[in-house]
Amino acid sequence: MDEIKCPKCEKTFTTEDALEMHKKSKHPEEAKKSPFFHTHKKKIKTWGIVLIVLLALGAGIFGLSKTAVDCNTIPAPEMNIGSHSGVSQHIHTQLEIYINGNKEFIPPSVGLGQNFMRPLHTHEADGIIHNESPCARDFTLGEFFSVWGKTFNKNCIFDHCVDENHTLKILVNGKENSEYEDILLKDSDKIQIYYEEKNATS
Ligand SMILES: [Zn+2]
Ligand SMILES: [Zn+2]
Repeated sequence: MDEIKCPKCEKTFTTEDALEMHKKSKHPEEAKKSPFFHTHKKKIKTWGIVLIVLLALGAGIFGLSKTAVDCNTIPAPEMNIGSHSGVSQHIHTQLEIYINGNKEFIPPSVGLGQNFMRPLHTHEADGIIHNESPCARDFTLGEFFSVWGKTFNKNCIFDHCVDENHTLKILVNGKENSEYEDILLKDSDKIQIYYEEKNATS
């Protein structure tokens, strides 16, 4: 059996308990200091595990909230919702574009690709912008154009820009709107973009 030596007086003992007893009676100062790690080893271990669990939980919550924050702030062209499952927001906005009196074709599957699905996309060639997101949030008309890869701002629609002979007018539900690319895509709204010659009637 191993012998345990008292660090103070070199007396030997066969068990830790016997040494502790000896220290308590012969060297009370030593007894106060040294037993800490023996008697508290278990507690330290337990608290260590509790701490690790808390840190892991914290990291998990941070991770979740980070995802939620990303969903709320990431621009539509950079967001990949993956599929239609797990979508909590699903609304539709109608878009019509008229260039010099002609209705422009808005293609199907804008924002849909082999490996991505943008929160703003079309399914049919009907100008309906599907607005589908795992979190409830606003998207802008400008973001849809970015997903589409086309120009739209207060000066231009596609490569048609305002000049001395042409104007750009936006109607939302029939009312003129001056927010252009900042227009929020709301459910059941109808957005019409008119690029036309001055004094033309639309
Ligand atoms: Zn839809
Ligand atoms: Zn869809």
